[in-house]
Amino acid sequence: MEINRCSRCGNFYVSNGPVCPNCTIKDNAEFIKFKNYMESNEEQTSLDEISLATGISQTNLTRFLGYDNGTLESSDYSTN
Ligand SMILES: [Zn+2]
Repeated sequence: MEINRCSRCGNFYVSNGPVCPNCTIKDNAEFIKFKNYMESNEEQTSLDEISLATGISQTNLTRFLGYDNGTLESSDYSTN
């Protein structure tokens, strides 16, 4: 067990996910939105543009970009 600090709300939590349990649902939804946007926009876009188009903050976009290509499903995001 490890105590992490949530990248979204700053709360401390004990879990393996990248954000706290309170933020997991919202984070998942935004990650899907982000992935869809990236898939439909093959040419390079700036974080600014992605943020404007998706409504996701640049901080979260930076974090999403750091994830390995769509491996979220197999990570610790399992819903239980
Ligand atoms: Zn949180």
